[in-house]
Amino acid sequence: MAKKKKSNRPSWDEYFLKLAMLASERATCPRMHVGCVLVKDKFVLATGYNDSLPGQPHCDEVGCLIVDNHCVRTNHAEINALIQATTHGVNVRGATAYITNMSCTTCAKALIAAGIKRVVVFSDYHDTLATEFYSKSGVTIDKLPMPKKTINYDLKNYTSARKTKRSN
Ligand SMILES: [Zn+2]
Ligand SMILES: [Zn+2]
Repeated sequence: MAKKKKSNRPSWDEYFLKLAMLASERATCPRMHVGCVLVKDKFVLATGYNDSLPGQPHCDEVGCLIVDNHCVRTNHAEINALIQATTHGVNVRGATAYITNMSCTTCAKALIAAGIKRVVVFSDYHDTLATEFYSKSGVTIDKLPMPKKTINYDLKNYTSARKTKRSN
C-alpha cells in the first residue's frame, strides 16, 4: 500500500472553530469580526456573527455607534446564534459554543442562561467578567490555538477529479 500523505483533516474542535471563523466573515462592525457556532453531538444547531439589527444600516456603511468606548450598533455573534436557534425552535441546552473570541460579559450571561455547557475559543476579549461568570456556572472553557486559516480544498489533486484515459 502506498504511504499515505500527511492529512489536513482537522479535529472536531478545529473544524467547528474554522466554521466560526467562516461565520465571522459575515460580520459588519470593523472594530471586531466575531463568529459563533453552537454545536451539540457534532451537529451544528446555529451560527451567528456580529451584525446590526434588521432594517438598520451597518457599521461599515455609516460608521460605528460608540457608547462608553464600545460599538453598540450590532448584536454580537453569540446573541445572533441564540436568536437564530430561537427563531427556528432549536433547543441549545447542553450545547458547546465555538467562538472566535472570548465573549463579552453580556453574551456570556446569555449563553449561560441558555444552558451552554462548554465554550471553545482561540482569542481573548479583554476586560470582561465572562470567564468568571462561565466558571461560576460550571461552563468549561477551552482555549485552543487558532486553526490554520487555509481551507484545504484541492480539486486537482483528488483522484476522482483527474481525467482518466479510456482504454478502448
Ligand atoms: Zn461597529
Ligand atoms: Zn458579546
